[in-house]
Amino acid sequence: MLLSKSFIPILKNNPSEAKIKSHQLMLRVGMMKQASAGIYSWLPLGFKVMKKIEEIVRQEQNKIGAQEILMPTIQSSEIWKESGRYEDYGEEMLRIKDRQNREMLYGPTNEEQVTEIFRSSLKSYKSLPQLLYHIQWKFRDEIRPRFGIMRGREFYMKDAYSFDISDEEAFYSYNKFFLSYLRTFKRLSLTAIPMAADTGPIGGNLSHEFIILAETGESKIFTDKRIFDLNTNETELEKNSLEQMRKKYEQYYSVTDEKFNKDEFEKVVSEENRLITKGIEVGHIFYFGDKYSKAMGASVDLPGGKKDFVKMGSYGIGVSRLVGAIIEAKYDDKNEIMKWPLSVAPYDIALVPMINKNDTSALDKAININKELIKNNIDSLIDDTEENFSSKIKKMNLIGVPYQIIIGKSSEGDLLEFKEIGKETQNLSLTKIIETIKKQKNSN
Ligand code: ATP
Ligand code: MG
Repeated sequence: MLLSKSFIPILKNNPSEAKIKSHQLMLRVGMMKQASAGIYSWLPLGFKVMKKIEEIVRQEQNKIGAQEILMPTIQSSEIWKESGRYEDYGEEMLRIKDRQNREMLYGPTNEEQVTEIFRSSLKSYKSLPQLLYHIQWKFRDEIRPRFGIMRGREFYMKDAYSFDISDEEAFYSYNKFFLSYLRTFKRLSLTAIPMAADTGPIGGNLSHEFIILAETGESKIFTDKRIFDLNTNETELEKNSLEQMRKKYEQYYSVTDEKFNKDEFEKVVSEENRLITKGIEVGHIFYFGDKYSKAMGASVDLPGGKKDFVKMGSYGIGVSRLVGAIIEAKYDDKNEIMKWPLSVAPYDIALVPMINKNDTSALDKAININKELIKNNIDSLIDDTEENFSSKIKKMNLIGVPYQIIIGKSSEGDLLEFKEIGKETQNLSLTKIIETIKKQKNSN
């Protein structure tokens, strides 16, 4: 892609209305644009990143055997009246009337909708377990939408739902999602820590929030540092291994402020391991048993001829919030340098030729290099503008494409000036550069 033809409206300075670095950067490099309070249009750069995050989330859901569906954004109030949440949800729910005067709503979450789908389709324990998910826009009329897409009113969420025959089986499903979340955030190059959490309006008795550390986060957290050293790479999708994996995390005190208890914290965590800080909630999983299935009559036939309500859990990931969360984790705002993890970068590599009116040989060279890159499925952004070199580099450092090739007038021969943002420049052949990037891509 040629920069001159791309829709990347860059601002000279940080917009004054943005208070945190992700909001600043997203406006600065034109990743999104506010449409109205808490509602955003996604422009090419931001949209590419979000779609890549979505795809990683999807792959990790599929890996644990969850099946993708798509439920509508607009729901009927009827099912919410059955669960009792039509009243309870309060002012955060956007309520709409259609032309027949029917009460509709823009879904803030989908427990009711998915329970309705389940109860009208499956009747036997033999069909269990079922893990269903969708990735869809949500609307919550947040009292204080802020920090850009971090706390929007309209936002993009992956929400999954599990249906099981017993508590024991349901915990197994819960643990599958627990593992899948750890894997997902790792592929996004984030360290997300599972923390015991309150269940809030979803209800229920077992719940974890997945939180990444950030000074600008809205969740206060209290944790035993040692939890950061844990790893889950080799965990199998088998009942016992998953249970042990969750126990490994749960052995360390790690909670958000709703669950915080000072005496307990000081009793179980030695002083040198205590960490009190702030974080961003990027995912939240809940087990709530038959809360919805009972209220809405979602039951299955059991082996002995009896019936029982299915045991359910729900599992959310804030896909649009993750775009901001990755920026909070990776953007060095003092030096104005962003580096996207390659797994979600808007482009794999930036080509920066030095150009002036009389001499476009460096641009020609960039275009030739790009032909090779395309053959190898490497997506590049070529700065074909005639700006001076240092402003070109400044701009690319803000956009955050992780790799750069700098093509000077004098660059001849086979070796190219190759740079990974934040590291030293190397002289490498194009073949070697392609190999490096492909290897990095495959490792994710
Ligand atoms: P929060 O505590 O941040 O308000 P929540 O607990 O209400 O979030 P959940 O119902 O657990 O949110 O939703 C699942 C995920 O959706 C959250 O972990 C978060 O990543 C994301 N999310 C929730 N609300 C918003 C929002 N207003 N804007 C962007 N993402 C959101
Ligand atoms: Mg939550």
